Amino acid sequence: MALIVQKYGGSSLADADKIKNVAKRIASTKEKGNDVVAVVSAMGNTTDNLLRLAQQIHSEPDEREVDVLLSTGEIISATLVAMALRSLWYDAVSLSGAQAGIFTDKIHRRARISKIEPERILKELKSGKIVIVAGFQGMTLEMDTTTLGRGGSDTTAVALAIALHAGACHIYTDVEGVFTADPRLVPDAVKINEIGYEEMLELASYGSKVMHNRAVELGEIYSMPILVASSFTENPGTLIHGGIPMEIRNKVRGIAQDLNVAKITILGLPDKPGVAAQIFQALADADISVDTIVQNASVNNLADLTFTVTRTDLSKALRTIDPLAKKLKARECKSDTNLGKVSIVGSGMQNTPGYAAKMFTTLSAENINIQLITTAEIRITCIIEEGMMNKAVQALHKAFELDKTAA
Ligand code: ADP
Ligand code: ASP
Ligand code: MG
Repeated sequence: MALIVQKYGGSSLADADKIKNVAKRIASTKEKGNDVVAVVSAMGNTTDNLLRLAQQIHSEPDEREVDVLLSTGEIISATLVAMALRSLWYDAVSLSGAQAGIFTDKIHRRARISKIEPERILKELKSGKIVIVAGFQGMTLEMDTTTLGRGGSDTTAVALAIALHAGACHIYTDVEGVFTADPRLVPDAVKINEIGYEEMLELASYGSKVMHNRAVELGEIYSMPILVASSFTENPGTLIHGGIPMEIRNKVRGIAQDLNVAKITILGLPDKPGVAAQIFQALADADISVDTIVQNASVNNLADLTFTVTRTDLSKALRTIDPLAKKLKARECKSDTNLGKVSIVGSGMQNTPGYAAKMFTTLSAENINIQLITTAEIRITCIIEEGMMNKAVQALHKAFELDKTAA
C-alpha cells in the first residue's frame, strides 16, 4: 500500500461545496488502496482577513499572537475536511501542525521546519484513518505556535512527504499546473508538463506563487518529486523533479512577476571600507532579506547605495536603516514602493548574453523603464514600475515565444 501526501490550497476549499469536493478526491485516493495524508490551507481569503482583523486591533500586532491567530485558519479547514470525509463514511482525523509533530525554529511569521516527529500520524494511519493536517504551521520546542510564511502549506506537504517516506507528493490548486507565466495575467500561457527543481525554485522565489519556494527547495534536497495539478479536474498537471532531458534545457522556461517589492536608496554615503557591511549586517540582524543591491561609483568620496526588500519588510527596514544612515553621516534615505520585479528563468540562459539583450530590447520597445537589473545563472530580473508589470510580462512571454512552447 502506497502512502500519498496531498495538499489542497485555499481556493480549492473556499466554501462547503468545495470542501465536499476535496473530501471526495481524498476518498477516491484512499479507495485506490493508498494511505492518505492530506495537508490543507485556510479557506479562501481567510488568512488575509485574519491579518486585516489583527491590523484593525493593533497597527503592528505582536508576531507570536499573529501566528496563533493565522494558524486557526488551517485548523478550521482540517476539521471541516475530516467531517466531510466522515459524512462519506471514511474514518478521518484532523491534526494541527503541532499534533502532527512539526517542529520549527522560533522565527515567527516565517519559521523553518527543524524536525518532524511523525509518530502520531503513523499511529493514525496504522489504525486505517485518513489524516488531515493543518498546513502552514508548526510548534517551537517551547510549544509556541509558528507559521511558515505565506504560501507555506506547500512546504508542510513536501516536508511531510519526505518525513513519511511517501511515494508521492501532490499539490492540488486552482490551476492545471505550472504555466510559462501566471495564466491569470497571460491568457496564452502554456502548461509545462515537467520542470526541474532549479528552474522551479527560481520561478517560485521570484513571484510564481503556484509553489512556495521552500517546498521546491526541500523537494530538491531530498529528491522528492512534486506533482502540481488542479483540484477540480483530472488533467495530468506538472511534475517537478530532477531528471529533465538536456534538449529542453536550452530556452527560457517561464516568466515570474512579483509586486511585493520596495526600494531603499541611501544617498551620499561616505565611501570607505566597512560601511556596506554595517548596513547589511544591521538588516540581517533584524531578519530582513535584501535582494538586489547596487552601489554606484563614488563622486567626492560619497556613494549612493540602492537595494530592495519586500514591501512587507519596508517599515522594519527603514526603522533599522534611518538611525544608522544618520550615524554614518549619509545625506538622505529614500524609499519607493510602486515597483515590481519581472524575471525570465531558464537553465539554457547560462552564459548566453543574447537573452539579456532580448529582455531589455523587449521592455524598451514597450516604453518600460528598467530601474535596476540583477542576473543569476539561470535568471535575469528587472525592477520596473508597478503599473507596467502586466504589459512587461505579456511582451516578454511573446518575445521569448513561450506561447509556442511545446510543454
Ligand atoms: P493555492 O491556494 O492552491 O495554494 P495559490 O493562489 O497559492 O494557490 O497559487 C495558485 C495561483 O498561482 C494561480 O491561481 C495563479 O494565478 C498563480 N500563478 C502565478 N504564477 C503561476 C505560474 N507560472 N503557473 C501557474 N500559476 C501561477
Ligand atoms: N493560508 C496561508 C496563506 O494564505 C498558507 C497557504 O495558503 O499555503 O498564505
Ligand atoms: Mg499557495
